[in-house]
Amino acid sequence: MRTALIAPRLVRLVLSGSQLGAFEDEAGRHQAVVSTGFDDVVLLFFPRLGSERIALPQVSADGGFERPLDTEVIFREYTVRRLDATGLVVDVVLHDAGVASDWVRRAEPGTSIGVVGPRVSRALPSIPRILAIGDSTALPALSRLGESLPVEVEGDIVVIDGGPGLEIPLFAPTGVNVVRAHESVDACSVLSGLGLDATRTYAWLAGEAGLVTSLRSFLLSERGFDKDHVQFTGYWRN
Ligand SMILES: Cc1cc2nc3c(=O)[nH]c(=O)nc-3n(C[C@H](O)[C@H](O)[C@H](O)COP(=O)(O)OP(=O)(O)OC[C@H]3O[C@@H](n4cnc5c(N)ncnc54)[C@H](O)[C@@H]3O)c2cc1C
Repeated sequence: MRTALIAPRLVRLVLSGSQLGAFEDEAGRHQAVVSTGFDDVVLLFFPRLGSERIALPQVSADGGFERPLDTEVIFREYTVRRLDATGLVVDVVLHDAGVASDWVRRAEPGTSIGVVGPRVSRALPSIPRILAIGDSTALPALSRLGESLPVEVEGDIVVIDGGPGLEIPLFAPTGVNVVRAHESVDACSVLSGLGLDATRTYAWLAGEAGLVTSLRSFLLSERGFDKDHVQFTGYWRN
């Protein structure tokens, strides 16, 4: 693992390992992992403070995962910012204190971490307009979205960021406005200024659970969005 500071409060982890490529073990041959969706997710497994041992989940009979009964499994979810020959890249927002945030602050190059995934997410429907809104934890997904949208798509990407230390450039097709709002600003009032066309727009919302819930309610009740056109995920809870 390598790290790079891409903004004062945003650390990039570049993870490498033989199991990211095709490999063989006693269970047979495994294909190289891929990530096709802008909001694909990996589970990162951390050691307990003071220990280097990482407890990983076990594969269950139905092919899913289950926690080992006798150990504490510590994991957090992160967006795949990129997965290519350079490795698996995730961008971690540093907040005041937390297992992942603290581990990233301490991590030295070469430190090991457990990874499960990526879990490939639902693709966006083919739409003329996008409205994507997220807080700082959604910056990796919003960045990847902006880079991967077809050039003809129009709309808005709204970043509710946590203030200083998180400003990074965000690229998007020319018809997509990138709007930045401080977290202290009422996010619904930011949306009010956008002139949304509910019939032609697909909305994607991610970030703090309360924020996401209130944005979704606003789009459904105040702007007439169909609930099938609003995809929403709580990334953390305040
Ligand atoms: C699908 C998905 C994708 C995600 N992708 C990313 C990503 O790419 N990058 C990223 O940084 N995060 C991402 N997150 C959010 C991340 O998993 C959480 O923020 C996680 O709780 C951080 O773990 P922690 O161990 O540092 O803090 P925790 O131990 O989980 O929490 C400790 C305390 O910090 C608070 N807290 C947690 N997160 C934040 C935060 N971001 N800001 C302020 N306070 C916080 C909690 O409320 C709690 O009080 C994603 C979450 C999901 C579900």
